[in-house]
Order: sequence, then structure tokens, then C-alpha cells
Amino acid sequence: MGGREQSFVNEAFDSNWIAPLGPNVDRFEEAIALQLGGTVEVAALSSGTGALHLGLEILGVKPGDEVICQSFTFSASANPICYLGARPVFVDSERDTWNLDANLLANAIEDRMRAGKKPKAIVAVHLYGMPYNAEAIGLVAQEYGIPVLEDSAESLGSTYNGVACGTLGDIAILSFNGNKIITTSGGGALVTSRKEWKERAVYLATQARDDAPHYQHSTVGYNYRMSNVLAGIGRGQMEVLDDRVTARRRNFDFYRNFLGGIPGIEFLAEPQGYYSNRWLTCMLTPSYEVREKIRKALLEENIESRPLWKPLHLQPVFENSPNYLNGVSEDLFDRGLCLPSGSNLSGEDLDRVVGTITKTLQND
Ligand SMILES: *Cc1c(COP(=O)(O)O)cnc(C)c1O
Repeated sequence: MGGREQSFVNEAFDSNWIAPLGPNVDRFEEAIALQLGGTVEVAALSSGTGALHLGLEILGVKPGDEVICQSFTFSASANPICYLGARPVFVDSERDTWNLDANLLANAIEDRMRAGKKPKAIVAVHLYGMPYNAEAIGLVAQEYGIPVLEDSAESLGSTYNGVACGTLGDIAILSFNGNKIITTSGGGALVTSRKEWKERAVYLATQARDDAPHYQHSTVGYNYRMSNVLAGIGRGQMEVLDDRVTARRRNFDFYRNFLGGIPGIEFLAEPQGYYSNRWLTCMLTPSYEVREKIRKALLEENIESRPLWKPLHLQPVFENSPNYLNGVSEDLFDRGLCLPSGSNLSGEDLDRVVGTITKTLQND
């Protein structure tokens, strides 16, 4: 926590606003909108996954539809497609950003259209905080008239050509889960430039209650609104977001400075115009074997590290989904390792991680 979270939570208690709406929710939404550049509408929700679910529904995804999704991501990017009875179609990544490959995306759309099924939406992800190529993806989306759902769960504080991640798609989602760059313990948000879409999201998130004195429903709703207590935590966290981004980027620079010169070790650079919050520092090793050797050596020292996201086209749950591949995400999964990346890591912690990795590679 940063400092003022407790006092905002106390405000909720003192004013007896222990509900899924209230002044903290309003102030938290305003703070997010301000962070994203001020011209967007924000609906605070109970999770990023819930935000994806509502976003896809608002974009018109229906049972039997197909939705394109970046394969190299966390399963929560794709699960809501299935909640709606639609089918994910997975598309591989490009080397430069590790995110959706625009050429492959265009091929996939053409191929689905030849099969008589035009995808209803595109879920593009700014993985590990690195923005996707919004210009190239936007052009493809525009050419085929398919909306983009921007999964910005890992990239609050990142920018693309000076524009905030979270404002690049038709609808964007954020996550405030415990592992994200800032947290409300659990929470998320839907972001859109359209006021009527925010209103629709809030309506659906609060059980789709029609305007009547009694409880009247003409649509199936959800219980996805953020609680006023947790939004108090969010208000405090927004005040320290910049510090968190600085700390995460400092971790990345430290690791790259001390490990990046070793032959075979690589870190993902920011292309011109890209600014990553460096949510997690990821390192590429020469091979799966070396990756595992390092991971196990760290574990011996009680240091947790983790392979990169397993591509969704390799996940048993999605084995029957169509996919369009180029080998990039499988290679990243084989060779990549997420290093300890907490905002509160000390210089001593970072030294210990780097020391263990250097020693392991020297013994190779
Ligand atoms: C965390 C995450 C989500 C889901 O957010 P929750 O708030 O945990 O539901 C979705 N997509 C990506 C890429 C994530 O990392």
C-alpha cells in the first residue's frame, strides 16, 4: 500500500457507504480517467475478467460468434469469450512487442471470412506492460470493420506514442487484482470514450435493473460493480501509480544492466514511441534447458521466478480452438523467465537475484 488507502477506506465506514456504489467509486473512476488523459468514461468493476465479459457483450458478441484473441496472454483474456457462448480464435505475436502480429491478424481474419465467419471482435493485449502496435492493429481492425477490445490489465501507466494504454481500443479493460501494478485486492474497470457504453456497463454490472419502483428486468444482468470500500483502496493506489511505474522500470534497468551483456541473454527493448510500465521484467535465455536451470537455481535460493505465459493455443482447455501461428509465442514460452519484479524489491534483493543467475550461467 502507498499511504492514504486506509483513510479513504475509513471514509467509506464513517459515511456508512459499504455498498457497490458511493463516493469512493466515483472519485476512483475520476482518478483513472484523469490518468488516462481525461476524455474517457470509466466504470469500476469487481474484476478485469468481469470487465472483459461486459466489454465483449457490449461489442455485440453472441453465442456461436468467433472472437480473435492474442494467444500469448493470461487465460482471463479469452475465458469471457466462452462465457458468452462464442469461440476464441488464437493469433500469434510479433517479435518486437511480444503482442498481436498485425499481418497474421489480417491473414486470420481473411481465412475466417473465407470460411464464412467474420470475427466479431479482436482481443489485443499489452502484455507485461509493453504496448501492442496500436497503429498496425487499428488499421487492420478498421479495414475489416471489427472492434478492438484492449486488454490493458497489465499496462496501466504505459503509453504508445504518448497516448495512454487503456484508450487505444474501442473498449479497454483494466485490472486491480493483487498481482497488478496497483491493486484494490480484487477489482477492474471498463474504459470507453462512449458515455452510453459506460452506462450500459454499469447497468449490466448491477443486475440490469430497469427504471421502475419495483425490481424489473428485461435483460440478464451481472453482479460486477466495485464496492465502495475497495474503491477507497484504489483512490490511495492511484496516488502512487507513478512511483510504482518508476520502481518497476528501475527493476528492469537493473536486471538489463547486469545481465543483458551475457551472450544469449535478452531483454525486450521499447521500440520508438513505446513506453512500458515494465510490470514484470522478463528475460530470454538461450534455451529451455538454460531457462529451467536458472529457475531451479533461483528456487534453491528461495527466489520465486516463473516461465512466461503459456500460449493459450497450447492450453488443454482451448485445444479445439482455431489458431494462426508463427512460432513466436512458443519460443518465448520455452526460453523466457519472469524475474522477481515487485515495486518494493531492495537493492540487496536485486543483487541476490542477479548474483544467483550469473553464478548459474558461469557454471554452464
Ligand atoms: C490479470 C489479467 C486479467 C484479468 O484481470 P482480473 O482482475 O484478475 O480478473 C486479464 N487479462 C490479463 C492480461 C491479465 O493479466
